[in-house]
Amino acid sequence: MATDKRKVVLIGAGMVGMSYAYALLNQSACDELVLIDLDRERARGEAMDLNHGLAFSSSHMKICAGEYRDCADADIVVICAGVAQKPGESRLNLLQRNAEVFRSIVDPVGESGFNGIFLVATNPVDIMTRITCSLSGFNPRRVLGTGTALDTARLRYLLGNHLSVDPRNIHAYVIGEHGDSEFVPWSQAMLATKPIREICSQPDINCSDADLNRISDEVRGAAQEIIKAKKATYYGIGMAMVRITKAIFGDENSVLTVSAMLRGEYGENGVFAGVPCIVNRSGIRKVLELPLNEEEQKKFKDSCGTLQAVYQDLNLEGGR
Ligand code: NAD
Repeated sequence: MATDKRKVVLIGAGMVGMSYAYALLNQSACDELVLIDLDRERARGEAMDLNHGLAFSSSHMKICAGEYRDCADADIVVICAGVAQKPGESRLNLLQRNAEVFRSIVDPVGESGFNGIFLVATNPVDIMTRITCSLSGFNPRRVLGTGTALDTARLRYLLGNHLSVDPRNIHAYVIGEHGDSEFVPWSQAMLATKPIREICSQPDINCSDADLNRISDEVRGAAQEIIKAKKATYYGIGMAMVRITKAIFGDENSVLTVSAMLRGEYGENGVFAGVPCIVNRSGIRKVLELPLNEEEQKKFKDSCGTLQAVYQDLNLEGGR
């Protein structure tokens, strides 16, 4: 019988990586999971811990700690590895160090013969996804970052709450950099098929422009708020990554705001940013171009400009 095992190799078994792994197990989202970390003992312990939950799970997942050669027949390589900022270290210096970390990861993944899809979560995710694409030499449609997928989920949750509507019936996106310059193109936000702005202009609806601004500020500040309260964020991003993984394995053609290379869309070229994309078994099937108004186009251009400047400052010697 032919087997069609869904295999994921996870690089970086820290808080984000293991939240993803735990959610993968609970949602039976793959058949084989290999954990790789610089700290091999940690990866070994995490694999043991997850395996001990198998008897209570509906999943038959095969889980182990492994090596880069395990990437050879993987469908998806997920990267959540990264180094933390040192006291007083500049953002650019941290980025430079993370770029080196990525070289030590992406090169051996490529040498294994891996021919699947990269999914990157390490921050700053748009830059790290671009670095992965450049180092691997892969077709950009097979290199995805988590982008603004989590920010979009936060937006839909907050809007749904405010309007007392199921978030699944809210169609609104956060786009651009996963960071300070991200924004909500409100002209494109819908409740079912009705524009949210139109709904909010009705006198009997308790939703003003100030409420919409507060919601988008809350989305932008959510990560910092959580970090202040509990030092790091990981469950939400872990679940967002499982959602993307399922869209890939299920060949779903789902619309998700992942970080994708723009190749002419929105008038941008080469930069990776969070935009709604159709995601399926081949990775990104298509980047969707929203009909942004003039003000939104400018915000998007500025956000991409920020990402472009940071990437160029990195001066990646030897990057392909
Ligand atoms: P963490 O410190 O808990 O885990 C990082 C792991 O990477 C550690 O286990 C470390 O040993 C490993 N590592 C470091 N260098 C490595 C290498 N060369 N090879 C293999 N493994 C290596 O950090 P975390 O909380 O899991 O966060 C991981 C990343 O995810 C960070 O960059 C964080 O900012 C990012 N993050 C992204 C989002 C998002 O929306 N994209 C959300 C939350 C966190």
